This record gives sequence, C-alpha cells and structure tokens, in this order.
Amino acid sequence: MAYKHTKFIFVTGGVVSSLGKGLTAAALGALLEARGLNVTILKMDPYINVDPGTMNPFQHGEVFVTDDGAETDLDLGHYERFLSLTTSRKNNFTSGQIYDAVIKKERRGDYLGGTVQVIPHVTNEIKERIVAASEGRDICIVEVGGTVGDIESLPFMEAVRQLSFDVGDENAVFMHLTYVPYIAAAGELKTKPTQHSVKALLEIGIKPDIIVCRCERPLVGDIKKKISLFCNVKPNCVITAEDQKTIYSLPLALHAEELDQRVVDALGMWTRMPDLSAWERVVSLTLHPTDQVHIAIVGKYVDLVESYKSLNEALTHGGLANECKVVLDYVDSERFEEDPASLREVIGHAHGILVPGGFGARGIEGKIAAVRYAREQGIPFFGICLGMQCATIEYGRNVAGLPGANSTEFDPATPHPVIHLMEAQKDVADKGATMRLGAYPCNVKPDSRVFDAYGKRLVSERHRHRFEFNNTYRERLDEAGLVATGVYTDLDLVECVEIPSHPWFVGVQFHPEYKSRPLRPHPLFAEFVKAAIAHRQGG
Ligand code: GLN
Repeated sequence: MAYKHTKFIFVTGGVVSSLGKGLTAAALGALLEARGLNVTILKMDPYINVDPGTMNPFQHGEVFVTDDGAETDLDLGHYERFLSLTTSRKNNFTSGQIYDAVIKKERRGDYLGGTVQVIPHVTNEIKERIVAASEGRDICIVEVGGTVGDIESLPFMEAVRQLSFDVGDENAVFMHLTYVPYIAAAGELKTKPTQHSVKALLEIGIKPDIIVCRCERPLVGDIKKKISLFCNVKPNCVITAEDQKTIYSLPLALHAEELDQRVVDALGMWTRMPDLSAWERVVSLTLHPTDQVHIAIVGKYVDLVESYKSLNEALTHGGLANECKVVLDYVDSERFEEDPASLREVIGHAHGILVPGGFGARGIEGKIAAVRYAREQGIPFFGICLGMQCATIEYGRNVAGLPGANSTEFDPATPHPVIHLMEAQKDVADKGATMRLGAYPCNVKPDSRVFDAYGKRLVSERHRHRFEFNNTYRERLDEAGLVATGVYTDLDLVECVEIPSHPWFVGVQFHPEYKSRPLRPHPLFAEFVKAAIAHRQGG
C-alpha cells in the first residue's frame, strides 16, 4: 500500500467546537517541517454540503480557494500559512463528497450487487482519500472536523481508527484537543469535560496518545497528572495550549511544551531539533512593532472577522514586511448610503482604505462612495475582487463620463455595464463550484504599481467570481486615467487596474490574500501597507 512510508497524526476535538483544532494541527505541522520532515495536512468535514462554496459566510466563515480551484474550509488557509505546502482539492473533503462518490459507484455497478454500507464502503472511500493525499510524504496530519460525540463525524472516526490499525501503532498517533475550563467561582481548572470526551473517544475504539488542553490559564499543580491518570495518557503527553496573544506564537508555545518531541517519539522517528528562528522573528515583530497604521476595511460582513480570515492575515503579513502593526477598522458600507457625510469622520483618518470581495447588492453604493473618497483624498486604496469592480464603476461614473455605470450583478439594465457577466458564466445554472475558480496566470505591465510590487511580469493568483471588467470600456477608462495593468492574456481578461496619478490606487480581480504567508508576506499587501505608512507620514 502507498501509505507504507507515511506516518499519520490523527487530530480529534472534544468538549466544544472552536477550540482551534485547525490552528493546533497547522502549528504542529510547522514544527515538524522545522525538524526537516516532509509534511502534508488535510481536513475532513462531516457536513453533507459537497463544499462550503454555497454556504452563507455567517455560517461558515471564509471560503478558502486552492490553486486547483477547490472551494474549501478556512482551516486550509491556516495550513498554507503555517506550512510550506500549497494545498489542493485533496486536502479537504466533506461527507457530501464521500457519499456522492459512493452513490455514483453504486449506480455504475462498481459494488457488483453488494449491499452498500457505511462500513466498509463509506469508510473505505474515506481511507482511500487520506492515503491518496499522503502519498510521498513523511507525515500526514489528518484533522477530523467536528467534536467527538457528533453523529455525523462517526464514519470519519471509524475510518481513522481502521487506518491506524492498517498502518500499525508505530505509524499512527492520535492527538485529542480538549478544553480545560477555569471556573472562577471555585477558583479551579476543571478536568471533567476532558475525561468525558476521552471516554467518548474510547467508546469508539480510539485511544489518544497525546491530549492537548486548550485553557485560559496554565495547567498548574496536579492537573496534568490528573488528566494523565483518568485518561490513560503519559503525564508528559498532556500538553498545555494556553491562549496566545498572536496565533503565530502557537508553534513556539507548543514546542515549549515539547509537543513535537512527543509526536516524533510516539512515531519512533529521529529528527534534528527544529529551527524556529523565523517564527521567533514573526512573533517578536508582531508583539513589539515599531510603527502602526490604520486600515479601514469597508465591507458587508463587519461582525464576522472569520469571513475575512485570509484578508486579515495578509494585512498583518503586509505589516510584518514593514515592521509595522496594522490596525484593522471594519466599517459597514451601508452607513455611507444613509449618511454620506460620515465618510470623513469614519474613514477620513485611515492611512489606507480597502474594499474586499463580496456578493450581492447590499451596501454596494456605500463601497463605491468609499472608493471615491479614497481616490479624491489621495488615500492609498486597495480593491479586491468586488473592490476592484467598485473602483471601476466609481471611475466610470465620476471620472470617465459614464453616468449610471454599474455591474450587471447590481443593475442588469445599467446604460454602462463596465462590469458584466463573464462569457463562460452566461449559461451556468448550478450554484456550486461554477464560478471562475482557482489559479490563473496574469501578465503584469512594466511601469506599474503591481509590477513594482511583484518585481516580475508573470504572476499567478487565485480567483472566485462570476463578473469581470468589460473590455468595451477599456480604452475609455484608460484614456480617463484608470489603467489596466494586469491581464490574463489567453482570454484577454483585465485582472488589475490602477490610477498612476494617485499615490497608490490598485484594484485586483483575484484574491491575493490566499497566497500570503507570515514567512512570505504577499508583495501587494506589503506595498499597500508601505503606501499607508508613507501616507501617514506625509499627512
Ligand atoms: N460578486 C462579484 C462577482 O461574482 C465579486 C466576487 C468576489 O468579490 N469574490 O464577480
């Protein structure tokens, strides 16, 4: 079998959701990479949706897009930010995909008339996908979505139990993340929820080798011993995962608890000690910045930091590149529709203004008003996907003499559809996985802000949209001063626009935030933050 040489780490979660299982798994991945191991990591999501692409951001948070165009869970963003790998559709699958595949095989007759069952057909499908994703790696970290005890995650739990048996104990580690609450009235940390969740795991045949305890206070006194005793785990395999000031200190905190050592010991591996100097630098710059700028993010999902996860991180990375803290001020664009005079008061002090991606007409005029403000006041502006489309609409209406210019997404009857539905989208009826998705090459024009940032002519960025810049208006907008500086040449699609006469005004049809990493900040975010610093110093 292909997995003969790969060792597996299965990560499960207990007690409550939102404990940071994905982050913990990703931070462990970073530590193992820093030890010189070749690591991959994947997430299995128990919900029935085929992918999160059709889910409301209020329910699911950001949809992370891979190079090969998969719409995936936001944990894959953490994976790419913490590890050096570039994920693909192999790194995330859902119950929906598994059942879809099993039912298709059944209809084709692949099961030769047998009764199709959760065990073995569904579990085998899961195992095959894990094995396929692990190919060629030293280590494969498998995050099981959901919380132990959930009905829907049972087939995944069973599959990893079987897989650990198939590959042998010495090649598999079970790591369980739990919550150890501090009860203020009693003045104590409580281990009972952990005991119960480990019991639930044992009932389905999984014995954790390592327990990572998420807690607000360190596990003092005999707490670790107590968990060890009740849960059958060695005391040194009970790991404290205290809340961190920045997510990027998680690898350091877990290393201080010797998590990576326990994992390689359990897998019978010898590795060098990890070199964590790059992470130490990131943490030190994050915690002790020498400078600070404010960026206003004018969007729709303002209460939902989770919806702009990669964007927030990319802006933070842009700050790291400039040794500067980036303070993000979220602004609901709808308020500018009700009260245009509030623009100055609300975003007038920002050192940079960013309009992010989004869907639907709500708040669109407020975003366009914010673009206009940034343009007229000479404040650095960065428009991403929908933000680039708003910038084009604004320029059309207010500079290029195209009254009523709009995107056909918001006004199908607009006299000037400067943004319109892509040709390839015109006959699309299904909602799922039908947008322009994944990585496309973009040719960057020399003598442009985008070229200054990238330092090269050919770049690759990821997309997720249905509408695009309408080439009918390209010349007109160009003559008026909004220049197309990035193009996907195969289909002649405009990917970047900018105003050369403005201090820094860039709109991009793609999502550069997906590719930014703390150890390799994305050049466009680095340049945007640099422009924001310059604006603050000049203003
Ligand atoms: N709604 C726009 C489109 O579909 C923008 C999408 C986005 O910002 N991701 O083209």
